[in-house]
Amino acid sequence: MDSVSSPVEMFFFPFVGGGHQIPMIDMARMFAAHGAKSTIISTHKHALSFRESILRDQKSGHSIFITILSLPDDADLSDTDMSATPVTDTSMLEVPLKKLLLQRKPDCIVHDMFHRWAADAIDNLELDIPRIVFNGNGCFASCVRDNISKFKPHETVNSRYEPFVVPGLADRIELTRSQLPAFQFVADGMQKSKENCYGVVVNSFYELEPAYVEQFKKQNKAWIVGPVSLCNRNISDKAERGKKAAIDEQSILNWLDSKAPNSVLFISFGSAARLAQEQILEIAYGLQASNQPFIWVIRDVFKGERTDFFSRFEEKMKESKQGLIINGWAPQLLILEHGSVGGFMTHCGWNSTLEGVSCGVPMITWPISAEQFYNEKLVTDVLKIGVRVGTLDWLSWNMEPRASVGRDAVEAAVKRLLGGGEEGVEMRNKARLMGEMAKKAVEGGGSSYNNAVALIKELRDRRRIDDIKYAA
Ligand code: UDP
Repeated sequence: MDSVSSPVEMFFFPFVGGGHQIPMIDMARMFAAHGAKSTIISTHKHALSFRESILRDQKSGHSIFITILSLPDDADLSDTDMSATPVTDTSMLEVPLKKLLLQRKPDCIVHDMFHRWAADAIDNLELDIPRIVFNGNGCFASCVRDNISKFKPHETVNSRYEPFVVPGLADRIELTRSQLPAFQFVADGMQKSKENCYGVVVNSFYELEPAYVEQFKKQNKAWIVGPVSLCNRNISDKAERGKKAAIDEQSILNWLDSKAPNSVLFISFGSAARLAQEQILEIAYGLQASNQPFIWVIRDVFKGERTDFFSRFEEKMKESKQGLIINGWAPQLLILEHGSVGGFMTHCGWNSTLEGVSCGVPMITWPISAEQFYNEKLVTDVLKIGVRVGTLDWLSWNMEPRASVGRDAVEAAVKRLLGGGEEGVEMRNKARLMGEMAKKAVEGGGSSYNNAVALIKELRDRRRIDDIKYAA
């Protein structure tokens, strides 16, 4: 094979936390399904969480590989599970990454912006490898953040809770100062990643946020290629995505099969968000009062020890079959796409939001951190497929969580979405349409499909130009 006909080789260098690693693995798999040779660059420990799905892809003929960066014997990244925070320092990977790039020359490297050192490290090698950035956000959130930075509307209000309108957007979006992320350092890091980059890949799809894709593309060379979670087509991929689930897939499917269509509320706050114990109790009371069936993913909030109330609650929910509580990692995709699921109470992490959309499920929005308050606005005010539970204060991953939503608000939101009223039904219908559009976007001829193919073609054309240059 000459260099023009051999597959375009794309390196993917994901970050180590759940909400960033998971979509980038999916993205690498999706590009491989489109005919690229995808190589995921990872560490031994992190690769364990996605190795099986890559082996399955290889068996089905896709050209996808994992390259392990070797670290000094006694070194490892401190956060090795799914809940690494954005401040996790990954710079110990710099030397092995550079070594790898000097040995092999891929057609591009897609790197997560949270590897804050990677842009300089790659650019300084002067290898002329196109560097493409993945920032994990949708276009709407990026536009909101950019316009707040540019116009500073939050400086015109007198208090944390006085609403201001974000200028320069296609929709009227109101926020309060209390909801703004204090992640300037991330914004700076991202800015740096974006300087001199070849482009940006975005996990979204055009039909979801057309005005914002257009706006984003005015500032960035961007390929909108999602929802990448839709590359998970078989049960094993869905059940093991990110981490092996704490419950076997058959038990969960049996439980869901026993419920009426569109009746179950799925509650999950992503891979990293922490809730106060008192908040968990308020949710429990609210769910019980709502009488709605639910699946609730609880992470390590009780650190092994349940309060008496929660133990009784768990037991009661099990006996009455109203609720299934998952202690640990849930097979989120498998649950969301089941026909019995009628609502998703989410922290509005971008992946969860997009997964809810892809599965056609309306949402109860409970933003906590990162850019989640922006995503909430997209869901409730632009797409109109969700109801707010009413959180008001942005919380950093290193701040102590506290209870901010009472049981009555939980119950009211559940009843509004799932109680059978007109508003909930309308949201469900809209969400279903969005889900259909999402699936179309990634199928042959769809917008995201075409964008992914266009990027591969562009990289191939670049190679051809290089060949001509060297031949001359
Ligand atoms: N996830 C999962 N099971 C869990 C928790 C999370 O599969 O129990 C997945 C979820 O499907 C999503 C990702 O982890 O793909 C979380 O990303 P998101 O952007 O929603 O939130 P973050 O974890 O970054 O806050």
